[in-house]
Amino acid sequence: MADASQPNGRRFDQLAHKPDEINKFWRNANFFFDRVYQTMGLDPLYRAYLSSPKRVLTVSCPVRMDNGSIQVFTGYRVQHNNARGPFKGGLRFDTEVDRDEVMALAMLQTWKNALVELPYGGAKGGVVCDVKKLSLNEKEALTRRYTAEIMPVIGPFDDIPAPDLGTDSQVMAWMLDTYSMMTGRQALSVVTGKPVALGGSCGREEATGRGVMYVLKRFMEVTQHRSLEGMKIAVQGFGQVGFHASRLLDELGAQVIAISDKFGGIFNENGIDIESAGQYYRENGQLTDYPEGDAISNEELLTCECDVLIPAARENTIDSTIAPHIQAKIVVEAANGPTTPEADQILCEQGVTVLPDILANAGGVTVSYFEWVQGLDNYFWDLDRVRAELQRVMNRAFDTVNAKADESDCDYRTAAYTIAVGRVAEAVRLKGIFP
Ligand code: GLU
Repeated sequence: MADASQPNGRRFDQLAHKPDEINKFWRNANFFFDRVYQTMGLDPLYRAYLSSPKRVLTVSCPVRMDNGSIQVFTGYRVQHNNARGPFKGGLRFDTEVDRDEVMALAMLQTWKNALVELPYGGAKGGVVCDVKKLSLNEKEALTRRYTAEIMPVIGPFDDIPAPDLGTDSQVMAWMLDTYSMMTGRQALSVVTGKPVALGGSCGREEATGRGVMYVLKRFMEVTQHRSLEGMKIAVQGFGQVGFHASRLLDELGAQVIAISDKFGGIFNENGIDIESAGQYYRENGQLTDYPEGDAISNEELLTCECDVLIPAARENTIDSTIAPHIQAKIVVEAANGPTTPEADQILCEQGVTVLPDILANAGGVTVSYFEWVQGLDNYFWDLDRVRAELQRVMNRAFDTVNAKADESDCDYRTAAYTIAVGRVAEAVRLKGIFP
C-alpha cells in the first residue's frame, strides 16, 4: 500500500532490502514506534523522518593480527536523530552485530535519551567480531582503527560513543586517545564510560544496573506500596548490567534466585550469593559449574517461578514461544529490545507489567550525560552526588511514565514511547525542515 507520508519515495527500511531480509529487531523497533505514532495524532508528514536514521556509516577496519595476518572487520555507526542535541549512544563489539541491529539500537537510543530528558539525539555503533577471541593488542588495534574510520562523524558536540556489549572503559580510553592524537587536542567529552583516571565519572560502571534497581524500587513503592524485601528475582545475563542490578537488588533485601550467561544459568531458591557468583564469573568467564545452585538453561530461567524477571542480555530473548510460559508478574527490561512485539502483546494479555527498556535501562546513558557535563566543566562530582542525581532522574522518568499510563489507561511501553516520541517530534517540528 502507498505510504501517504512518502508520496515520492519509500521509507528507509524498504530501501536496501527485500522484505524478508529485514532484520527482525529493526522491524520490531519500527513496530513499537509506528504503533504510538498512529495513535498520537501526530502529523503523518513527519513519520518517515522520525523513523529513518539520519546517517548510516559502514566502515572496514583492517587489523594486523598477532600471527601476522590481516583481518578486515566491518563496523557501523548509525546516527538516528539529533533534533534534541548531539548524537549519543554505545558501541557494541559482538558477533551478532549487523547494520539493521545497529539501526534498531540507534532508534531506541533516541527515544531513551528523550524519555529521561537528556539533551541528546540517539546513535549506536557496532563492530562484527568475537571479542573474546581477540588478544588485548588486537582489540586495541581494532578499536583505534574503528575510531579513525568514524572520526568524521564523532566529536564532543557531534556524536559521543560509550560502552555497550563487549566494550568497556579501556575501549573508551583507546577511543579517547585516538581522537586526541588525530585532532591534536584533548577532548575529554568525545566518549563517556572512560576510566575515572581519564576523566570518567564515578558510578558509571554500575549505572545501568543501578538505574534498573531505582525504577523497580519506585514502581513497587508508588504502585504496590511495598519495598523489594523478599521478592524473588530472576536475572538473564550476568554482564555488567545483570551483575550490578542483581547485586543492588540483593542489597535491598530482594532474593536473586536465578542468574545466567549465554551458556546457561543456576537456580537456588534460597537466593544466590551475588558477590561470590560475580567473582566466579570473572575468574571463569562463565557460570557453568558454579557450585551454589542447580544448573538450568536460559529458557528455564526465563520461565522459572519468580516475582520479577529481568532480561539483561540481548534483543529478542522473550519471543512468542517463551512469553506464554513466563511466570513472573513483572518484567524489567535491562537489555535493549528483549521483548518482541508478539511477546509484548502476550505479556499484556497475561497481566504482566513490563517496565520497558527505554525507561528501565536509561541509567547508563544518564550517568554518561553526567560524565559529559563534568568533562566540559572540568569539575568532577563525588559518588554520592552521581547516585543522588541518577535516582532523581530515574524517579522523575518513572513518575512521568506512570502518570501517562494512568491518564491514557495504557501499558508502560506505550506510555514511555508516547512521551519520548512526542518530545522528539516536537523538537523536529520546531526546527523545521532544512533548507
Ligand atoms: N550502551 C548504553 C545504552 O544502551 C549506554 C549508552 C551511553 O552511555 O551513551 O543505553
